[in-house]
Amino acid sequence: MEKKSVSVTLEHVTKRFKDVKGKSDVIAVNDSHFVIEPGELVTLLGPSGCGKTTTLRMIAGFELPTEGKIYIGNEEVTMLPPNKRDTATMFQSYGLFPHMTVFDNVAYGLKLRKIPHEDIVKRVNETLALVGLSDYGDRAPSKLSGGQQQRVALARSLIVTPSVLLLDEPLSNLDALLREQMRVEIRKIQKELGITAVYVTHDRVEAMSLSDRVVVMKDGFIRQIGSPIDIYENPNSRFVAGFVGKAAFFPVRVKKQEANLWTCQLGEKEVVVERATTDVEVGTEAVLMARPESLRVTEKGKGKIEGKVRMNVYLGNSMEAFINTSFGEVLVQIDDPHAKKVFEEGEEVSIDFTPDRVRLLNENEA
Ligand code: ATP
Repeated sequence: MEKKSVSVTLEHVTKRFKDVKGKSDVIAVNDSHFVIEPGELVTLLGPSGCGKTTTLRMIAGFELPTEGKIYIGNEEVTMLPPNKRDTATMFQSYGLFPHMTVFDNVAYGLKLRKIPHEDIVKRVNETLALVGLSDYGDRAPSKLSGGQQQRVALARSLIVTPSVLLLDEPLSNLDALLREQMRVEIRKIQKELGITAVYVTHDRVEAMSLSDRVVVMKDGFIRQIGSPIDIYENPNSRFVAGFVGKAAFFPVRVKKQEANLWTCQLGEKEVVVERATTDVEVGTEAVLMARPESLRVTEKGKGKIEGKVRMNVYLGNSMEAFINTSFGEVLVQIDDPHAKKVFEEGEEVSIDFTPDRVRLLNENEA
């Protein structure tokens, strides 16, 4: 199944739909412009209706862009039908043929291409082995678990050796444990084959754990593209920060900048921050973003933000403390609840952080 990896390029792609009455336009995808590198797995992540599926469908050829161009490798495919593109799409519903065996379901794409029988048998067996279903060729799909059916669907997409694999929320019908297993499996197979993959999801954990890079979308716009670490540690806006993980946001006034140190007024206190988006300016209001694991609970008066413990939630390997402050409720993660002093519910405390663990965001970039 060896094949050369290819890139996927979207060049200023916009998709407009007419609304139900055929009057005003819905801009489902607005000027999307990015390159997926050969062999990369990129997820499109964002809330419902942000344009993820439409983007994927345009790469697959099920929708045509209103404006812009799409390339697979060096070939422009913008207006080509799906079967003329070197892509395979795997959908949320498995779409297996119930009256055919697993073997025939997987063989289907090859039979359509009139490939000799012995070659079909060889390739189906190889592909079933790849997805861990070697012993299941004779079964009917209805006699398989959800996870196994999903593997058959994956085998069916892979058997045609596409250069680009497109996955539209493929795991959303599975329970949590199976999702996790299949996620690992898909990633392993994708890497083994060196296939370029685009994966649509609204589940941040899925996106973070699977991807080389994540494209975060909102209202048809791309809001940020980056590695999972990058979008988590260095979000460019409040929206991205909140969508990819838990975060507290504090209003501050930026007073001074020296090298990469920003001095800000946070309530009564002056605090120093080491990281900021490029659009933060001295003399303006900004937002200080802090992840729960970047904050620490300490004795009253000893930190930067005063508060009172509302609730401690014990999670086994960590604990979450919900602290009421004048800025609203703040979540602090306590990594080892056994090793440290735990502040009791109702106790007055202070929240502290170091300059390198928090980030300044532009207030206007919602
Ligand atoms: P979800 O996670 O709910 O599937 P999504 O991010 O994949 O959402 P899309 O399905 O791409 O979003 O839809 C983007 C926008 O385009 C939405 O406002 C949607 O209602 C609209 N839209 C999608 N397909 C059509 C269509 N065929 N006709 C009209 N509007 C459409």
